[in-house]
Amino acid sequence: MPTACCLVPSPNHTYPGHPEAPERFSGLGGWRSRSYAAQLLWLDPSPAGAEEVGRVHTARMLKELEQACRQGPAIIDLAPTYVTRGSFDDALAAAGGALACSRAVLDGTARNAFALVRPPGHHAEPDRPMGFCLLNNLAIAAADALARGVRRVLVFDFDAHHGNGTQAAFWDEARATYFSTHQENIYPGSGQLESAPHARGRIVNLPLPARSGDAAFTRIADEALAPLARRTAPELILVSAGFDAAWRDPLTALGLSPAGFAALAEALVALAEECCQGRIVFVLEGGYQATAVASGAEAILGALTGSGARPEPDPSPYPESDIRPRLDRLVEMHGLRQSQSN
Ligand SMILES: [Zn+2]
Repeated sequence: MPTACCLVPSPNHTYPGHPEAPERFSGLGGWRSRSYAAQLLWLDPSPAGAEEVGRVHTARMLKELEQACRQGPAIIDLAPTYVTRGSFDDALAAAGGALACSRAVLDGTARNAFALVRPPGHHAEPDRPMGFCLLNNLAIAAADALARGVRRVLVFDFDAHHGNGTQAAFWDEARATYFSTHQENIYPGSGQLESAPHARGRIVNLPLPARSGDAAFTRIADEALAPLARRTAPELILVSAGFDAAWRDPLTALGLSPAGFAALAEALVALAEECCQGRIVFVLEGGYQATAVASGAEAILGALTGSGARPEPDPSPYPESDIRPRLDRLVEMHGLRQSQSN
């Protein structure tokens, strides 16, 4: 079965000097010359509808966002998040891309999928757009999957920022498990290790030091994510793929290289094969350096197609930080010791 993909570049969603710009996608397209190109099924998604979007966002938020866009361009928060006259339609198109990808996987058209969309989504909360994000693309796709009878979803979010919006969308949703890794002490400030005490073992937050690097993410996948997935037994895995976790990203400093993204993507795909017949959907979030976005996207596509193809190495020049003490604490806090999960 193929890997479904969609590309929603939203070229008119742009604001002078803002890093969340169409240029983020300028390096994409390297997949065309890759061995796995024939395995990619390119979808032509429709915009998300009111029913799908309304499963995550309040009617009032949607009305106010649409109005702000129609009166745009404008800055609507301190992140700063911007809107233009076409941004509401662009946001519906991005959410539609995530929906089309997850539906292709659920209906068996594709084994797995990658939605390359913007504007991004994971900071958008049910009642407010936030952090360069207008609608929460991944949460809309996850809620749609639950509405279609999927019993449990697992969301892994490796964007360098905490996905406060996705966490808020599933704060009290027992069928959704959310695991976020993010750089500590940066925007939006949420996602502390001890947060969400009501949902231990279901809402899992791992703030990381700057320059955690590739080895940290291999360890996180093996020691925390895999036991969480085995215990949760999801029927679909969704991934907030933020390539601002790249060492080259100008906004953040988590220190991943293309090889690190490839190893992480391969681990995630293997986990989906083990837990849920390979059903995994990646949705693009942040990433503000075009070559890092491009190599990260190729790492994901190489893993999804099982081709073994990896992007060109571009190792971080910085020493990696030790995450052992906090990872041990996280594993303890959420009951993820391997022996407990068996
Ligand atoms: Zn981010």
